[in-house]
Amino acid sequence: MAGKSERLIWSVGAGGATVGDFHQELTKYAEITVRVGLNLQKGQTLFITAPLEAVEYVRVVTREAYVVGAKHVHVEWHDEQLDLLKYLHAPEEAFSEFPKWRVQQGEQLVEAGAALLSIYASDPDLLQAADPKRVATDQKTRLTAMAKMREAIQNMRISWLIVSIPTKAWAAKIFPQLTEKQQIDKLWEYIFKTTRVDLDDPVAEWKKHIVELQKRAAFLNEHNFRKLHYQAPGTDLTIEFPEGHIWISAESTNAQGTMFVPNMPTEEVFTLPKRDGVNGVVTSTMPLHYNGVLVENLSLTFENGRIVEFSADRGYEAIQGLVETDEGSHYLGEVALVPHDSPISNLHTLFFNTLFDENAACHLAIGSAYPVCLKGGSEMDEDTLRQHDVNQSVEHVDFMIGSKDLQIDGQTVKGEWMPIFRNGNWA
Ligand code: ZN
Ligand code: ZN
Repeated sequence: MAGKSERLIWSVGAGGATVGDFHQELTKYAEITVRVGLNLQKGQTLFITAPLEAVEYVRVVTREAYVVGAKHVHVEWHDEQLDLLKYLHAPEEAFSEFPKWRVQQGEQLVEAGAALLSIYASDPDLLQAADPKRVATDQKTRLTAMAKMREAIQNMRISWLIVSIPTKAWAAKIFPQLTEKQQIDKLWEYIFKTTRVDLDDPVAEWKKHIVELQKRAAFLNEHNFRKLHYQAPGTDLTIEFPEGHIWISAESTNAQGTMFVPNMPTEEVFTLPKRDGVNGVVTSTMPLHYNGVLVENLSLTFENGRIVEFSADRGYEAIQGLVETDEGSHYLGEVALVPHDSPISNLHTLFFNTLFDENAACHLAIGSAYPVCLKGGSEMDEDTLRQHDVNQSVEHVDFMIGSKDLQIDGQTVKGEWMPIFRNGNWA
């Protein structure tokens, strides 16, 4: 699933817009955000982190939130250029300190059962000039300080949602051949398409989509596969699953029993791997945007779950920073299946944004697992999770491994092998 926690805590970016039908679509987008994604309840508080360029969308979302009965809507505006300035000019010690008031803010939101909306729209090239060590230290400091909030997010105790809006810098990266206005319009078009906003009744379309994904998850859960074997050029990987693992799709349930959809768009069905049960080599099939850097042709070698070797044609230092964050960032935390023939993949566009790219391809995540992917996992403390082979880390970073050349076979509890994916799609 989309690398949730880091994005909620650190959301960046900015977007403009035109008139006419656009406002109608923007309203529909706000409707699915509030009514399907967040499923905001009467009396609930909504907390939004947004880039400055999202102001138009945030206003429509805020109105929609009050229409369904929100008590408070708080917005934290964010300008990623200020992050860059800090990495370039702040003193070294600034990256190992994190303000208590921000930690308290997060904890109070969790206690109040607030819903969190994160608008993720980062400039993929933002941090090219920044020192990767500073970025890595800053990331680790933030994620460690925000542990309680991360825990609430990862265990789905509170409702949360990540969506995107176009920003100038991001749209320019995806469509360099277009004019600035065309870039923004094109990205809106793609966002509306992939979130089903272009259809007549997006709320109804989402209900249908959720049911379809649930069927895939049910198939995998019924077979209770012991392991999956991945084969593709540069990939020969076996992933075992722990006893009691659960395949999950679009919908989650918060502590109050309210359903919500944490990622829009979403096309994946995912679970957690057995911490020590990953062996072999895997090669990424799409560039990964991590901490403002593009990582290309990433290859990871695993022995008994641990990353023992890695290489990348571009962004090696960023991956090194990621893997060396803590012990858990040497292991995998997520296994997700997405057919090659999917609405996002069929746009044949690299979005340089994990929310979209991970939903275009099968992926894995380095770092923590979602405890909800294990029977009773949400109620387990850290030691118990460890005993159940559930990986934990302050990191969770998805990378894409799907392609038309990917074959996946599953081993049943009886030891028989069965095709799961052929040529990138469900077998
Ligand atoms: Zn993920
Ligand atoms: Zn995923």
